[in-house]
Amino acid sequence: METLVTIERALEIVRKTPLSLATEWVPLTEAHRRILSEDLQSKVDDPAFDNSAMDGWAVRGEDSNREEIGVTAAGDPPAHIDSGQAIRIMTGAPIPKGADAIVKVEDGINGKAHTNYIRKQAENLRKGETALHKGQLMTPASISLAATMGYDSIPVQTRPRIAIVSTGDELIRPGQQLKEGQIYESNSFGLCALLEKVGCIPVLHNVVEDGPEGLRNALNSLDCDAILTSGGVSMGEFDYVRKLMEEEGDLHFWKVAMRPGGPPLFGTWNDTPLFGLPGNPVSSHLVFMLLVAPWLAPEISLAKKVHVRMKDSVKGAPGKVCLRRIQILTEGDELVATTHTHQGSGNIHSMVAHNGVTYLQPDTNAGTGKIIQALWFND
Ligand code: AMP
Ligand code: MG
Repeated sequence: METLVTIERALEIVRKTPLSLATEWVPLTEAHRRILSEDLQSKVDDPAFDNSAMDGWAVRGEDSNREEIGVTAAGDPPAHIDSGQAIRIMTGAPIPKGADAIVKVEDGINGKAHTNYIRKQAENLRKGETALHKGQLMTPASISLAATMGYDSIPVQTRPRIAIVSTGDELIRPGQQLKEGQIYESNSFGLCALLEKVGCIPVLHNVVEDGPEGLRNALNSLDCDAILTSGGVSMGEFDYVRKLMEEEGDLHFWKVAMRPGGPPLFGTWNDTPLFGLPGNPVSSHLVFMLLVAPWLAPEISLAKKVHVRMKDSVKGAPGKVCLRRIQILTEGDELVATTHTHQGSGNIHSMVAHNGVTYLQPDTNAGTGKIIQALWFND
């Protein structure tokens, strides 16, 4: 077990325990944002035949005086011309046999003939060529390409089922009346949404009280690909996630050199990967974004690394990467950042009121005017 690891080291450690996911075939209409699980070879040439890139006439380039003998449209079989003849042609129609160039409709039948207005068979893709790769995120364009290649369904990874277990005696579900000392449980809901963003299926468990039995029973009852817990990973006496993982699980690391979000842990429980997130709402959110998301879905990015010029000064943290909430905006041709709410790790409003965080290296501060690294959240 390693402790107080850097963010990079934490990522290295978690990547040694990848999820094992099955393959399922889905129709292209359901393929958006799925992860391709096999390389795909094109079943056809693209284009399948030489065709016109323009509306105009199919001609022989050497002819100067042409006579129109017919019309060919997209979907027709190839026509035929002899010397001195031309055929009216529509975009996408097959090039008639005997033609070697296209005259644009705007130029008139005896206008300039262009060979580059012919889209040649297989100039984009040859039959058998691999154009979509295992591990690739299916975007609207790659779905269109899969269809062009002749696929109506594709093999993708099953969506990971990720259990969420929040721990804490003080937590009750929103909608109920708070008693003294209680707070609304909020992390699960943010984590559900984050999981959906990275293509996973969240499986929400009831809140578990602080104590070993309830937690052990909850963890043993789960049927999922990985577990996220929230709370109970710090140094406190009631931090049972850490205690149980130490004593009965297999712990790979505990604590990461980041602030907020210092005490996360990672390991396995009965061979199921388990990420223990801190209870403070900003911490659980940022640990998910920086450590859990790149592990679960390396192809999907929740934030862009950018450089910003600080308009306010922010303090860093000794020995830790410091993630202060900032508002990033463009000013002229540069990005600038301001900060304007209370930065406590319990203040989830700071994540709503800002659109990014600083990525301040350990033991560095950012004075006003300084250019620093930051993470700019994607919507
Ligand atoms: P813990 O990590 O369990 O020590 O909790 C740290 C802080 O986060 C405490 O103030 C908790 O009340 C709060 N907290 C823990 N879990 C949650 C949760 N699921 N939703 C909202 N706040 C939480
Ligand atoms: Mg707690």
